[in-house]
Amino acid sequence: MALVLDGNRVRDQIKSELQPRIAALAAKGRRPGLAVLLVGHNPASEIYVRGKVKACQDLGIRSETLTPPATIPTDELLAMIAELNARPEVDGILVQLPLPPEVDSRRILGAVDPEKDVDGFHPCNVGRLVAGLPGPRPCTPAGILELLKRHGIPIAGRRAVVVGRSDIVGKPMALLLLHQHATVTICHSKTPDLPAVCREADILVAAIGRAAMLTADYLKPGATVIDVGMNRVDDREEASRVFRDMPEKLASFDQRGSVLVGDVDPRAMREIASAYTPVPGGVGPLTIAMLLANTVASAERRALLC
Ligand code: NDP
Repeated sequence: MALVLDGNRVRDQIKSELQPRIAALAAKGRRPGLAVLLVGHNPASEIYVRGKVKACQDLGIRSETLTPPATIPTDELLAMIAELNARPEVDGILVQLPLPPEVDSRRILGAVDPEKDVDGFHPCNVGRLVAGLPGPRPCTPAGILELLKRHGIPIAGRRAVVVGRSDIVGKPMALLLLHQHATVTICHSKTPDLPAVCREADILVAAIGRAAMLTADYLKPGATVIDVGMNRVDDREEASRVFRDMPEKLASFDQRGSVLVGDVDPRAMREIASAYTPVPGGVGPLTIAMLLANTVASAERRALLC
C-alpha cells in the first residue's frame, strides 16, 4: 500500500511549532504582521487570500488585505508597496498572483522590500535561493520539501524530475531538490518523450496545471509522487474518467457540479507509487503553512534589527 503524504498533518505540525515563536515575539510587543495585496477580482485568488488571512488569525499573526481595483495604475500600486515597505509593523508583504494583465508584475514584485518578501519572489531572494544562501523560499516548493523530510523520504542521490518550470513552483522546486543533492531534471511543454523522462524519477513533482495528465506510463514503480496541480473539472465525463474507481468523488461532483483534480491520475498514483500526495490534502495545506513560517521568520529577523 502506498504511503499517503499527509499535508494537513504536516501543516498542523508546522503551525504548532510556530506558536511559541509567535508568543515570544508578542511578549516583546512584536506581533508578526502580514499585508496582502489583492488586485482586482479573481474568484480563485479571493478564496486563496481568505484562507491565508484566516490562517494568520488562527495563529495570532496580524494581517491586512489591500484590494485595489484591476484598473489601478502601476505607479499607484508601486506607491502602496512603498508605504508597506516603510511601515515597521508590516513584516511580510504578499502580492497575490496572478496580477491583472495590465499590471507589470515584474516591476511590482521587484518593488517589495526583499526583507519583507514572504513569497521569495524578489530577484534578490531568487538569487539567494540559486546560491544556496539563507532567505525566504517560495512557499509551495518549501512546503513540499518539508513534506518529504518529515515523512522520511530520502532525497540525496536520487533522481528527481520536476514537470513544470514556473518561477513559483517548478524552478524553485528543482533548485531546492538540487541543494538536497538530488539529480534533477526539469521538464516542460517542449520536452520530448515526457513519459520516458518521468519514468526515470524516484521523486516526481508534477506542477503543470492539466487534470490527471500524468497517467500510469509516466510513473516508475515505487516512485514518490508529488502532485502540485489543482485543476477544477466541471465536465462529468472527464470526472468519471479520472475517478473511475472512486464513487465518493463522483458523488461529490454530482453534489457540487465540479471536483478538484491534480496533475497525476489518482488511481495510477495509488497503484504504482510508494508514496504520494493526495489532491486535496497534500501540497495545498503546506503552501499556507510556509507563508506563515516565512512571515514569522521575517518578524524574528526584523525584531533583532530594531
Ligand atoms: P504555470 O502555468 O505557471 O506553469 C505550468 C508549467 O507546466 C509550465 O512550465 C508548462 O511548460 C508546463 N506544461 C504545461 N503543459 C505541459 C505539457 N503538456 N507537458 C509538459 N509540461 C507542460 O503553473 P504553476 O507552476 O503556477 O502551477 C502549476 C499547477 O500547480 C497548477 O495546477 C496550479 O493551480 C497548481 N498550484 C498549486 C499550488 C498549491 O498550493 N497546491 C500552488 C501553486 C500552484 P512551458 O513552460 O513550456 O509552458
